[in-house]
Amino acid sequence: MLAELLQNVSLFRVLHQIDQDLALACQQDGCPFCHSPLHNAPYTRKPRGGPDSIPEEYCVRLSLCCSKEECRRRVLPPSCLFFGRKVYWGAVILIITTLRQQNPQDYSINMLARKFAVSRNTVVRWIHYFHEVFPESQQWQRLRGLVSAQISNHDLPHSLIEYFLCTGTSPLESLVNCLHFLASGHVP
Ligand SMILES: [Zn+2]
Repeated sequence: MLAELLQNVSLFRVLHQIDQDLALACQQDGCPFCHSPLHNAPYTRKPRGGPDSIPEEYCVRLSLCCSKEECRRRVLPPSCLFFGRKVYWGAVILIITTLRQQNPQDYSINMLARKFAVSRNTVVRWIHYFHEVFPESQQWQRLRGLVSAQISNHDLPHSLIEYFLCTGTSPLESLVNCLHFLASGHVP
């Protein structure tokens, strides 16, 4: 159910639309350093792991740049499509890690690496990240109180996805809600 979503272009279209909304909201706030207007300064990326038919326009990390000559600072709006500098789509990282946590018998690391054409080391790195780094991160500390206390810090992102699967009307909507929440703290 979750794995099939990674072949669904609609998922990426919806996430791209949310990224545009998040960037617009950020732009409307102006430069956080000098309050001057912010210009668009997007950059193209080549994220891995999604369907081959994803339009190029979605493969863009939206970014803003201060218009004032003496400032010119970059402002990076939150994103549902991209996790920091990671080279895979955020949705891919979230789903592969969750499949492993959900069902380790059926989804061995070797099997996941083969099925999704990701190196074994990369899968191991993601699992380590969610087990050791993410629960302690500022990002999670900021978000933790906004969702149910029943979500286990020791079972992320699986426990978070399960929470959104219980509240969404479809797996696609639930995954979108989860990624939107991780990016911006938005709770539907
Ligand atoms: Zn500025």
